[in-house]
Amino acid sequence: MSNALTQDNLDTRREQPVADGSLLIGGQWRPAASGHTLDVYSPIDGRRLCGIADAAQADVELAVRSARDAFERGTWSRMAPAERKRILHRIADRIESHHAELAVLGVRDNGTEIGMAWKAEPGSAASTFRFYAECVDKINGDIAPTPHGTLGLVHREPVGVVGAIVPWNFPLMIGAWKIAPALAAGNSVVLKPSEEASLSLLRLAQLCLDAGLPEGVLNVVTGQGRTAGDALARHPDVDVLTFTGSGPVGRRLLQASAESNLKRVYLELGGKSPNIVFADTPDIARAAEVSALGLFRNSGQVCVAGSRLLVQRPVHDEFVEELTRVARSLRVGDPLRLDTQVGAVSNPAQLARNLSAVEKAQQEGARLIAGGEALFPVAGGHYMAPTVFTDVKPDMALAQQEVFGPVLAVLPFDDEAEAVRIANDSAYGLAAGVWTSDLSRAHRMVRAVRAGVVHVNTYGGSDITVPMGGVRQSGNGHDKSLHALDKYLDLKTAWIQL
Ligand code: NAD
Repeated sequence: MSNALTQDNLDTRREQPVADGSLLIGGQWRPAASGHTLDVYSPIDGRRLCGIADAAQADVELAVRSARDAFERGTWSRMAPAERKRILHRIADRIESHHAELAVLGVRDNGTEIGMAWKAEPGSAASTFRFYAECVDKINGDIAPTPHGTLGLVHREPVGVVGAIVPWNFPLMIGAWKIAPALAAGNSVVLKPSEEASLSLLRLAQLCLDAGLPEGVLNVVTGQGRTAGDALARHPDVDVLTFTGSGPVGRRLLQASAESNLKRVYLELGGKSPNIVFADTPDIARAAEVSALGLFRNSGQVCVAGSRLLVQRPVHDEFVEELTRVARSLRVGDPLRLDTQVGAVSNPAQLARNLSAVEKAQQEGARLIAGGEALFPVAGGHYMAPTVFTDVKPDMALAQQEVFGPVLAVLPFDDEAEAVRIANDSAYGLAAGVWTSDLSRAHRMVRAVRAGVVHVNTYGGSDITVPMGGVRQSGNGHDKSLHALDKYLDLKTAWIQL
């Protein structure tokens, strides 16, 4: 079947039956020990797609044992680096040759508009595997400048078993951000996808086996966070836990580590990212369009979304008018239509949270100027209109709490100092944007705003070569880039008397 991004191809693939999912443990696909499954419904139209295995503690036990056994056997951890590199490249090849299948499967599962999912899901998963494939034979240790008569060697070793727990918004991309560097470093992995979006990751796991990844090196336990996820977080034989998701779950994982084996826990959490527009913005129309898309694409279900828009007073009204015009013009609908700009909200619980954030903002006195309601472009699906609030005060819930939906808070400011004060008045520190034609101001703002990434005269956009992570309650540690490898490696010193 074709791999092209055409409407015909999307229409054919959207009708393909999806088989019920199993767990991948020790290279074998098997049902959950309990025999239980969870129904998967498509956010596009609410129809049942398939079931996924509902793993419990016994399944996680088996998966971790299989990962540990594979690690100790050395089939991957001690494989020649050049051969490991070849296999990771073969995984990237297989993602590319199944690009359309993976993209459509993922969209049917989580509702992201295909234009975005096409690039962000299989597209970035393939480039992530390629990037880390190229790292495998470049992970060196050091020789330290020790006193005469001694030799200090610093080895970099795989940690052992990595537990990876990922969310539903970009499962394939974020899954690859964890799996590829963990494998490149020589570890075994147990992956727990979100119960809201497991399907493309299950398919990826099979592609990894097809590419020659040895049995037991990658295990996948689907199911619920409070059972399968919790069992993985508490498991005494998991060395590192790498997580992307919400703050409250991140807290639980730290607790689970403290109450079990003190495993290292890396957290990529939420945000309430400020996007700051100065009056000297080079092109107001472009800034308004990019800012609107910087929040509304994927129905706002983007961790780095610029959900707090700070606009300097002289251009506030003009900017808001332009941005609102863009928001109202966005085509919300079936995410598998090529002309759709904003797809479905991933699940009914998220839509309910979005609508209750709208209600609360109105109660607190913010002014609703666009959207605010659910839409029904496809019967049975979950959709929401791009929503804009003005007159938002920094202490309102809409300015402080992550919605993770298409709801924008607009706040005015007078000068640079006030912009920095409002921007940093947040528990989070994931991303930010600055729009200005003053080069010095741009650099000052990059330093002053507390965030893991500051976009200048753009919003969003990234690449595997740069790190992705937050500060404060947006998390610790980084995905992507060479820095991510450090999470999956231990340092060991050899101190030798000569
Ligand atoms: P979530 O925290 O509800 O779930 C994430 C994962 O954790 C899922 O696999 C879930 O099953 C699992 N989980 C839930 N409860 C658990 C428990 N008690 N123990 C162990 N695992 C558990 O998050 P979500 O709703 O899937 O995703 C949305 C959140 O993710 C938002 O807050 C968003 O900002 C954040 N996010 C952050 C980034 C980033 O890079 N910083 C990227 C994407 C999403």
